[in-house]
Amino acid sequence: MAGRIPQQFIDDLLARADIVEVINSRVPLKKAGREYKACCPFHGEKTPSFTVSPDKGFYHCFGCGAHGTVIGFLMEFDRLEFVEAIEELAQMLGLEVPREQPGRAQPQSPVAPVYAILAAAAKRYQAALREHPPAVEYLRRRGLSGETARDFGLGYAPAGWDFLLRRLGDTPDGERQLKAAGLILPRDGGGYYDRFRERIMFPIRDSRGRVVGFGGRVLGDGEPKYLNSPETAVFHKGRELYGLYEARQANRRLARILVVEGYMDVASLAEHGVRNAVATLGTATTPEHLRRLFRATPEIVFCFDGDRAGREAAWRALENCLPEMRDGRQVRFLFLPEGEDPDSLVRREGTAGLEQRLTAARPLSDVLLDKLRDGIDLGSIDGRARLAELARPLLAKLPHGVYRELLTERVAEEVRLAPGKLDRLIGEAAAQRPRAPAPPRGEPQRPRLMRRAIQLLLHYPLIGAGGVPAALQPVSQKGAPLLRELLEITAANPDLKPAGLLERFRGRPEQPHLERLLAEDSLVRDADKAAVEFADCLQRIASSDREARLAALVAKAAEQELSDQEREELRELTRRSASGGR
Ligand SMILES: [Zn+2]
Repeated sequence: MAGRIPQQFIDDLLARADIVEVINSRVPLKKAGREYKACCPFHGEKTPSFTVSPDKGFYHCFGCGAHGTVIGFLMEFDRLEFVEAIEELAQMLGLEVPREQPGRAQPQSPVAPVYAILAAAAKRYQAALREHPPAVEYLRRRGLSGETARDFGLGYAPAGWDFLLRRLGDTPDGERQLKAAGLILPRDGGGYYDRFRERIMFPIRDSRGRVVGFGGRVLGDGEPKYLNSPETAVFHKGRELYGLYEARQANRRLARILVVEGYMDVASLAEHGVRNAVATLGTATTPEHLRRLFRATPEIVFCFDGDRAGREAAWRALENCLPEMRDGRQVRFLFLPEGEDPDSLVRREGTAGLEQRLTAARPLSDVLLDKLRDGIDLGSIDGRARLAELARPLLAKLPHGVYRELLTERVAEEVRLAPGKLDRLIGEAAAQRPRAPAPPRGEPQRPRLMRRAIQLLLHYPLIGAGGVPAALQPVSQKGAPLLRELLEITAANPDLKPAGLLERFRGRPEQPHLERLLAEDSLVRDADKAAVEFADCLQRIASSDREARLAALVAKAAEQELSDQEREELRELTRRSASGGR
């Protein structure tokens, strides 16, 4: 596997790439003040609400909310994965993409040690598989060859409580990272034990091929049958798809992706040459999953059981798909015959048989109409009105375009209404969709101060060149760790642009939040003014944190004896409070 792209190179690339030039070559832009405008390429519109800010290195559409850096734009518009977008950008600038030595972690990233420990754990599990004949025998019985096991990096977590702990957790550092990676659990009465025991281990890889978590299938009859890593700083079930990295490795272009239920299905399909299957990780398909899938392919086929639970799960997936149904995209549903799974189907009917079933799978529009018609008498006016009523909010979720028009026409036919009339009704439904609640008015609250500080820093990374001020170190309120992390990055990289700072958080749960903050107008026009407001924010955050801590200690002192340390802190806080926070 190729090594990671150094962060420094990504920073340089973002500093050098001209976002206006890159977007303009795909979507012609017009200058409007400090920014550039165009009709949005991601939703149909007649008046331009798509803006590109060269200062931020960021685009934002006020119509559909699409936004991101130049890397994000290439990923969305050219449907590239992260690494491909980097390569594309480098090529435009005539640069060679450097690669780090595999396994060498980046010192500045706080999550680098977590990735490192996950990679080390995957290696240990793989080695253990070779040493445990019953585990190998199990895979062989399930029809998996050594080659597939290798492609998917399958391993084995042996029985016992401390397989990983003994090998990787014998230092306080190792123990901390195993914990951060979700690989060990605290034991009653102190110490830890391994989370995964006596299980076939499926490493879950992110789009860059890094192990971010594991799925474990119990070898015997134990419970639970399937166990996944918990959510961690690097693993988010609502985002990762098991097998997507492997599918992309096996296919340069994916004409279609198959979404199946479990990792065993993905591996057994690959064994039969079906190398385009992925699985969600014990969750329903999220909008984030869909966006990732559609970046990789124009067509998604969901495989669900034909029973009631399967149909309900299909409906949930379908509803999530609607906002993503841009022109040129397709979603189909394959309902499996009773008692079959994708693996048994491909065994019985071969790859060609499965392909045939996939091609004949039901399109989203059919499944949608079926569900709407369910229990409705279309012969009556009441029934047709009811169907129109049910369809309205669903159709309103579709992005504007040919697909929406066609589906609207079909529903209109069904309810015997002129498509134009139904369209107007749908417009009303879209306008009635609830908006995000307005921020509370009045005195800015503590989270609002934190939000504002983070926003200023994102817009003007230069103001964070001084790093984390001492007064901010002990602050424990929500957002403080993120602010400190941002300040550590800006201190180490004083030339970073907003887009560069944002890209550091790609794939992390904070990413959408930070994107929103950068998409908003900062309302300050230069770094000097931003610096003044930022310093004020930090000071007020620190002092309100001290007050909260003081109040908590006073309340505690009224109820119980304080420890020496707490008494010392109380004295110090009282002193500072009396002297006005100096
Ligand atoms: Zn848009």
